Amino acid sequence: MVISNKISESMKSSSWIRAMFEEGEKLKKQYGQEQIFDFTLGNPITEPPDELKMELIKVVSSDTKGKHRYMTNSGYEDVREEIAAFNRERSRLDFTKNNIIMTVGSAGGINVALKALLDPGDEVLVPCPFFVEFMFYIENHGGVMKLVDTKDDFHLDIEKIKEAITEKTKVIIVNSPNNPTGVVYSEEELKDLASVLNARKKKGQRIFVISDEAYRKIIYDGIQFPDLFLLYDDTITITSHSKDLALPGERIGYITISPLMKNAGKLIDAAIFANRILGFINAPAIMQRVVGKFQKNSVDIADYQKKRDLIYNILVDAGFEVVNPGGAFYIFPKSPIKDDIKFVTDLQKHHVLAVPGIGFGKPGYFRIAYCVEMDIIERSRPFFKEVLGKAGQ
Ligand code: PLP
Repeated sequence: MVISNKISESMKSSSWIRAMFEEGEKLKKQYGQEQIFDFTLGNPITEPPDELKMELIKVVSSDTKGKHRYMTNSGYEDVREEIAAFNRERSRLDFTKNNIIMTVGSAGGINVALKALLDPGDEVLVPCPFFVEFMFYIENHGGVMKLVDTKDDFHLDIEKIKEAITEKTKVIIVNSPNNPTGVVYSEEELKDLASVLNARKKKGQRIFVISDEAYRKIIYDGIQFPDLFLLYDDTITITSHSKDLALPGERIGYITISPLMKNAGKLIDAAIFANRILGFINAPAIMQRVVGKFQKNSVDIADYQKKRDLIYNILVDAGFEVVNPGGAFYIFPKSPIKDDIKFVTDLQKHHVLAVPGIGFGKPGYFRIAYCVEMDIIERSRPFFKEVLGKAGQ
């Protein structure tokens, strides 16, 4: 065999999201773009803010010498200082540029954090349903993923987390607002999580929280996003500008390591080294220069909220059982039949493309990514009704 057995196995179990997206591309060729309601990918149609585009032009066209060169593996010092200042203002903690490591998106950031933390066989808890790439990222670094079911409303089941912890548990990855459910974890549940982890710490076991905050700014209904740095010392947050500034192709994000973490310096050094040896070397230079100034900005969240309202109403009107998401741009309704793959295939026959829940470790549900044109959401209304009606028969 040319390729490794391991990668061959991983590819087989790899993404349903891609599989459905590719199916959609075929249908679009067959029936025309307009006739296909593609809710498969979290690849927003939104453009980055105009001021950001202007800044990009300024940076690219400046006469500054050396702007395309390597820099320190953690990223430009002045950019990291800008981000640290933003963190200081937000959390009222003593962040410095040393707490910030610029990364190749949050995917790069999570890989760097896991590389720095995991020894082979270390366990990583992941609340389920989950962003399936976590599984591959954990495997990349010899970790063992342990899924922990969430409650019916997709919030953390603290008792189950407590039960899932063993002496080998090193990390828990939390992702809020969540992909695929859109659920935003409350301060209470994160406090409860912190108290479970602190109880282990008292017994001599440190469990690190990697908080994937790719959707942190995409949050609705005035919900306040709880600041994990204030709740738990061994916190590492992963920020991405793929979604909040609509820059997924530019691959820019960063890791923030808590200033309250004991021996944080060791983890910071390890993460910088990991950034280098994973082959990232450093985050894209031009994008670092640009995003430092846009920490307080985001795309139009009100627009996403309108889309959330519309898709939620369409699904509820049609009779689907669904949790109203507080953030991100995903919604995760229950499939009206047990077999979510069959249901998604039925939806396809009505030209509606979604991803089966099994692709997120949760059969019996399906995910809709509503980061599409409003018109696509609106025109999909009758098809959801029709397909649910048929499933009921
Ligand atoms: N984490 C979650 C939960 C995501 O949904 C995504 C992308 O969809 C990523 C990480 C990766 O994002 P990035 O483009 O920042 O690498």
